[in-house]
Amino acid sequence: MIVEMRSGTTPEEIDGVVQRAKSLGLGVQLNLGTNKQVVAILGSTTGQLPTDIFAVLPGVESVTRIMKPYKLASREFKAENSLVSINGIEIGGERIVVMAGPCAVENEGQVLEAATVVKKAGACVLRGGAFKPRTSPFSFQGLAKNGLEMLARAREQLGMLVVTEVIDQHDVSLVSKYADILQVGSRNMQNFPLLTQIGRSKCPVVLKRGFSCTITEWLTAADYLLAEGNDRVILCERGIRTFEDSIRFSLDISSIPVIKRFSHLPVIVDPSHAAGHYSLVPSIAKAAVAAGADGLLIEVHPNPKEALVDGLQSLTPSDFARLMPELKAIAKSVNRYI
Ligand code: PEP
Ligand code: MN
Repeated sequence: MIVEMRSGTTPEEIDGVVQRAKSLGLGVQLNLGTNKQVVAILGSTTGQLPTDIFAVLPGVESVTRIMKPYKLASREFKAENSLVSINGIEIGGERIVVMAGPCAVENEGQVLEAATVVKKAGACVLRGGAFKPRTSPFSFQGLAKNGLEMLARAREQLGMLVVTEVIDQHDVSLVSKYADILQVGSRNMQNFPLLTQIGRSKCPVVLKRGFSCTITEWLTAADYLLAEGNDRVILCERGIRTFEDSIRFSLDISSIPVIKRFSHLPVIVDPSHAAGHYSLVPSIAKAAVAAGADGLLIEVHPNPKEALVDGLQSLTPSDFARLMPELKAIAKSVNRYI
């Protein structure tokens, strides 16, 4: 951390900063010029300390971080890529894992049909929400436990993995009985008690990026899961809110190489929630594969016109079947496969 002192600061004020650093077991390096007086705070834990502990001291102008606030998710902590292995399917390796299915579980026939068509086209993980985090309390909230049971039956019949969202920390043990992968939705990325509970469950988890959160905040949230000993963490870029209003969210394609640079965790992309419209999904999905995503999470509904949630952004079975060979071709061109 770099502590910049106000002009006209006194030696006592500078000493106050030095003493606080020492009381925390940190080293200091003074750079006392004629115009600028700067105290560098040294130590491997500075990334985890709040800057306020120095900012509140008399004579301090500003405090700038150099170390990243996340630790366990960082490449410095673990240099090699993490592979998340779930019942024989590996995420973060050469294979790009396609997860697909409806936004919400609506009934037995819908889930089964969705699972059948996405599996036939090459997806190996079935998605579908039984607990839906809806913006309005008057919207369909999901079928809860009944929905989980439908997912489990589809999983059994088709031999697929299931990813489904958990929105409440008290439901983690229930949902993890049915799901192979828990999903933390964008609105819950910083629900820290939920993250802690999922961390303790040790269940594989897809951590979606909060749509108003920076990559640093996202990786720091991942540290909550990792800190509880759950190392099967998969990040998911799903678009962020920007000034652009011609699309539901702006998919931050650059977050994929940025994550690869700063973190060892695998990262997948959800083009559907970024797009908000089925016609935009294929291009975004293809861009994600080209950019290095380790997987995709795509909404597919047997009959989008009748969908209870997110029908407009859902691909039909034939849209999805057309997209898969294109994705495979792009995967091949970047030395991956689907
Ligand atoms: C979802 O995947 O069903 C979902 C609600 O997505 P997000 O949390 O990204 O909005
Ligand atoms: Mn949805």
